[in-house]
Amino acid sequence: MIGTASGSEPMTQSNMIDPFGRAIDYLRVSVTDRCDFRCVYCMAEDMTFLPKRDLLSLEELDRLCTVFIEKGVRRLRLTGGEPLVRKNIMHLVRQLSRHLKSGALDELTLTSNGSQLERFATELADCGVRRINVSIDTLDADKFHAITRWGKLDKVMRGIEAAEAAGLKIKLNTVALKGFNEDEIPEMLRWAHGRGMDMTVIETMPMGEIDGDRTDQYLPLSLLRAQLEKQFTLTDIPFKTSGPARYVEVAETGGKLGFITPMTHNFCESCNRVRITCTGMLYMCLGQDDSADLRDALRASEGNDLLAETIDRAIARKPKGHDFIIDRRTNRPSVSRHMSVTGG
Ligand code: SAM
Ligand code: SF4
Repeated sequence: MIGTASGSEPMTQSNMIDPFGRAIDYLRVSVTDRCDFRCVYCMAEDMTFLPKRDLLSLEELDRLCTVFIEKGVRRLRLTGGEPLVRKNIMHLVRQLSRHLKSGALDELTLTSNGSQLERFATELADCGVRRINVSIDTLDADKFHAITRWGKLDKVMRGIEAAEAAGLKIKLNTVALKGFNEDEIPEMLRWAHGRGMDMTVIETMPMGEIDGDRTDQYLPLSLLRAQLEKQFTLTDIPFKTSGPARYVEVAETGGKLGFITPMTHNFCESCNRVRITCTGMLYMCLGQDDSADLRDALRASEGNDLLAETIDRAIARKPKGHDFIIDRRTNRPSVSRHMSVTGG
């Protein structure tokens, strides 16, 4: 087995090695930039989405993912926008599941806002998906509606129940927002761990224009951790998933809590991932603008040689790390594209 969640560094057979010696074995695919929510830190309410004609077809997405798998990707995460609002998304999931069956892929998973899970949980499990990340920032229905602008908490809760019933392991993703949910995080932690879900808290990243002011939202997780330590015993553990979170074990609940701290603690040195957008742009770093157009390479020929070469040239440019900064003077995002374009 390649890639472990056991605490040891994953071994890899990827033939995509970047200039800093990092082996790329994790691919995140944003299958749509559209979403049925408008979370205030992620999107403006009147977002302009990409024209549908620019999107890769599901067949093209499958071909692209398959080339990455042949080059050594062992874990694949579908994200967005909301991946489950892409029309016929289960067709792509079912197609990709053949790589799980063949053993070429260790894991096929997704990050979702949970709104469509009630409908798709059983089918996802049937396709070999074993765990999913669900993003919830509050357990209060009114606050949930306020932060997502369009979301309904009870629908997401029904989605979580359906996922549990289908045997999917769930990890809760929560963006830590100053003055919004910082006081609620202990309760969310007890709730998640009480249901057997791990939880990860995330710092807001300055990506894309939004309606509000990001400096108002930003809560350093070092502060949150200090607050949590007043009521919980947190012990650093070497547990690793394929993501960038650093984990602690919470003695009082017996569960794990991850911290994703792009702003206060750079995690780039162990970055093993690249991202593709729904239009086939390959981003080597979430926090940088450099990209490679794989759609042209994909459409230029029926064979995959040009595509593989274009990927190799792009991996050779993978930067050492991101330069996220929330600039209080300009309030401009560090990266102009929204998180929903490249996926979280
Ligand atoms: N719609 C799905 C969801 O919400 O889980 C998948 C895509 S969403 C962009 C992935 C993750 O990114 C979510 O957990 C979301 O909370 C997080 N996110 C979105 N914008 C962010 C930002 N500016 N800073 C930090 N996290 C962000
Ligand atoms: Fe949609 Fe996810 Fe962005 Fe919220 S965070 S608007 S659910 S893509």
